[in-house]
Amino acid sequence: MSIEALKQYSYTDWKKAAQRELAALETRHFIGGEFVDSLGGGRFDTVNPANQTVLASMAAAAPKDVDRAVAVARKAFRSGSWSRIAPRERMAVMYRFARLIEEHAERLALLDTLDMGKPIADMLEVDIPSVVDTVQFMAEYIDKIEGSVTSTEHDVTHFVLREPLGVVAAISPWNYPLLMAAWKIAPALSAGNTVVLKPAEQAPLSCLRLAELFVEAGGPPGVFNVINGIGEVTGKALALHNDVDKVTFTGSTEVGKLMLQYAGQSNMKKVSLECGGKSPQVFMADLPDLDAAVAAAYNGIFANMGEVCNAGSRLLVEQSIHEEFVERFVAEGKSAYIAGDPLDPETSLGPLVTAEAQQRVLAMIRAGKKEGAQLVFGGDVPEMNGSYINPTLFTGVSNTMRIAREEIFGPVAAIIPFTGIDEAVHIANDTMYGLAAGIWTRDINRAHRLIRELEAGVIWVNCFDEGDMTQPFGGYNQSGNARDKCVESLLSYTQTKSAWIRHG
Ligand code: NAD
Repeated sequence: MSIEALKQYSYTDWKKAAQRELAALETRHFIGGEFVDSLGGGRFDTVNPANQTVLASMAAAAPKDVDRAVAVARKAFRSGSWSRIAPRERMAVMYRFARLIEEHAERLALLDTLDMGKPIADMLEVDIPSVVDTVQFMAEYIDKIEGSVTSTEHDVTHFVLREPLGVVAAISPWNYPLLMAAWKIAPALSAGNTVVLKPAEQAPLSCLRLAELFVEAGGPPGVFNVINGIGEVTGKALALHNDVDKVTFTGSTEVGKLMLQYAGQSNMKKVSLECGGKSPQVFMADLPDLDAAVAAAYNGIFANMGEVCNAGSRLLVEQSIHEEFVERFVAEGKSAYIAGDPLDPETSLGPLVTAEAQQRVLAMIRAGKKEGAQLVFGGDVPEMNGSYINPTLFTGVSNTMRIAREEIFGPVAAIIPFTGIDEAVHIANDTMYGLAAGIWTRDINRAHRLIRELEAGVIWVNCFDEGDMTQPFGGYNQSGNARDKCVESLLSYTQTKSAWIRHG
C-alpha cells in the first residue's frame, strides 16, 4: 500500500494493523540472508513505551554471534557477489530496495511506532519517505563514483581508484530507528561494502525487516546483516572486532568517545561519529516574520518529543523582542503538541522512548527549577500509562545552567535572553557541541556574519530543520567527526588506491 493511501488510515485501521503486526514480530538476528537465533540463547526485552508492555523478547548477540555475523559479512565481501559486480547491477538492486521499503511502509512505520513511541503520522510524513529518499539518492551515485588519472611524465601512468572498505559495522540509535540506520547502510552498501548493523536495543524491530527487504530486492545473502543486542555487550564486541574495517556510529557523545577507544584498542578501524547536540536558534530583533520564527522555535524542540540530535534546545532571543516572543510561544506552542496514543493519526506527541528516559528528563526539569529558571508551562506528565512528558518551557535561563549545557533529549525548551550580536555569538558557541544552529534576521550582513561565526556543521537561516539529501549533516566539536547524507558520506565508505605504472 502506498504512503499516501496509508495517510487515509483511521485510528481503528492502525490498531487492527498493529494486532496483525504483533502476531508476526521477528525477533532473531538476520545473518547470511536468513533469520537465526543466537548461538548462546541470550535474550532481552523491547518494550512499547506507550503502554509499558513488553513487545517482544529479542535474541541477544553474544561476542560469538558477533564473530559469526562479521565472518559472514567478510566472506560475502571477498566473494565479490556485491563488491565486484557492475555498478549498474548494484544500482538496480538498491532501486528495488527503495521501492520495497515504500511498498512495506505499513509494516515498517508500525514497528518503529510500537517500539519507540513515535506518532504514526510522523512515520508517514518524515521517516519512511526519508528512508526511501536516502536509499535512492545513494543508489543514483553508484556509477558516478570516479577515480582520477594524474599528470605524470611521458613513461608513467598514474591513476587513483576508489574501492569499498570491506566490512562496515553500523551502530545506530533509537530516535529515528530506520532513518538513522538508512543514513549508514545506504551509502555503505552503495559503495560496495558489506554491513553488520546493530540497532539500538530500545527499538530493534524495524531494521530486521529492512535487511529482509534488501535480500528480497536481490541483494546477495550475507551482504546486509543485522544483530540485536545491548550496547555494552554486542555493540562493544562489534566495535572492537579485528575484522571490521569501519565503524559508523550515531548516538551519544559519551558512547562516541568509546568508539574511538575501541578502534585504538583493536585494529585502528576507521570511525565515523554522529553524536549529540545542544543547538542554538538565534532570534535577532529584526527577524522577518515572528509567527514563522516562533513556530520554528516550538516545532524545533517539541517535534519527535524533543528526541532529535539537532533539536533547537537553546532559544537565544534578543532582549527587545523577548516579551512578545515568549507571549506568542506560550499562546501557540503550549497546545501545539498534545499527548496521545502514537497509533492515532491525530497524535502529535508520543511517549519518550523508555520510563528511564522519562525519569532522566524529569530530573533535568527539577534541575532547571532548582537553578532558578522560570517554568512557564509543562514540566509534568499527562495522566497516561506511557512514559509521556508534557511540552515544557523555561524562561530566564542562563547558559551556565545544566538545562542549557546538557543534552536533555526531551520536549524541554529553554529561552535565553541576549543583547546584541556579540553576546549571541558568545552564548551560542559556549557549548561542547556543534551540530546545528538557526539564525533569524532580515539583515543579510548579520546573517552572513553569524553563518561564519557560529560553530556548527549545519546552519539554517530564517528556517529550521529543512534540507534534502544533498545537504551534508554532521557536527563540529563534540557533535561528531563525519557527515551523513550527501555525496561526501558515500565517499567516506570508499578508500583510494593509487597505481603508478612505468611503461616503455
Ligand atoms: P547511545 O549512545 O546510548 O546508543 C547508540 C548506540 O550505541 C546504540 O545502538 C547502543 O546500543 C550502542 N551502545 C551503547 N553503549 C555502547 C558501548 N559501550 N559500546 C558499543 N555500543 C554501545 O545513544 P541513544 O540513546 O541510542 O541515542 C540518542 C543519542 O544519539 C543522542 O545523544 C543524540 O543526539 C544522538 N543522535 C545523533 C545524531 C546525529 O546525526 N548527530 C542523530 C540521532 C541521534
